[in-house]
Amino acid sequence: MSYTDLKQKIDTGEVVLLDGGIGTEILRHGYTWASHQLKNEPKLNLDIHKDYISAGAHVITTNTFQLSRRSFRNHFASDEHMALQGVANLTDRVGELVNDSVQLADEARKALGRDDVLIAASITTLEWCFRPDKTPDIEKIYDEYLAELTDYSDAGTDIFLFETFNSTPEAVVAIRAAREVGKPGWIALVPYKDGNLLGGESMEQVVDALGPEEPDVLLLNCAPPHHVTAGMEKLAPLWKSPLGVYAHVGKFNPPEWHFTNEYPPDKYLSECKHWHDLGATVIGGCCGTTPEHIALISNSLED
Ligand SMILES: [Zn+2]
Repeated sequence: MSYTDLKQKIDTGEVVLLDGGIGTEILRHGYTWASHQLKNEPKLNLDIHKDYISAGAHVITTNTFQLSRRSFRNHFASDEHMALQGVANLTDRVGELVNDSVQLADEARKALGRDDVLIAASITTLEWCFRPDKTPDIEKIYDEYLAELTDYSDAGTDIFLFETFNSTPEAVVAIRAAREVGKPGWIALVPYKDGNLLGGESMEQVVDALGPEEPDVLLLNCAPPHHVTAGMEKLAPLWKSPLGVYAHVGKFNPPEWHFTNEYPPDKYLSECKHWHDLGATVIGGCCGTTPEHIALISNSLED
């Protein structure tokens, strides 16, 4: 399927399914998610993508959350310090890992003969996604986004999924960079318990800031279901274009994830039905959700 076909599906209000958690699936299979396991366990990455395609996902995401030049460089005081540790070329590795991640997603759809499945690049904020206070100087980050997005575009990604964004100024920069690179940018924002963004902006402010940028899909993600519901209740009446949701299940327990039984697939499905009633048509799962969650949504929501 081309993106034009998918966009038509989205614009006519059909349900479009995303995949579920990737990092947490890696963890569930007994490996740490910290390195993404792109080099050490490529087959595990491949199998997880295949599991999500078989479960019914129309769009699968690359395993690249927080994989960026900046997140690597942030381990060091300066480029000189990084060089003195003997890893002067560390940030060059990002392009290679990004390429690996897109190839693994592509290999999964080819192996299953599913060229109708599209690949979304998972890209989060430049600094830590849950720290809106760390948002870098907005005037200085456009080129950084352009460099990141070019890697994914060169590797063959179909969509940029800007996810777990905590404020609109950085989202605006990301969408504009996506437009320059020439691929659709979807924006997924983290809601908080009060239905505002984690960074404090109200949904009115979100609509004012992002409406003129015309992202093909605006989503809420990486928050517990009741925070997503609070956000959707405020956002849906204001946003006239396609909306999406993918909540997480369990708890972020640094450095990994704590799985809980609060939202087994059937209970997550009932949340999804509620979000669908509120207006969300692009639906998937964030951290802690599994192929079983996606399969049940696929079986229940698509007809
Ligand atoms: Zn998440």
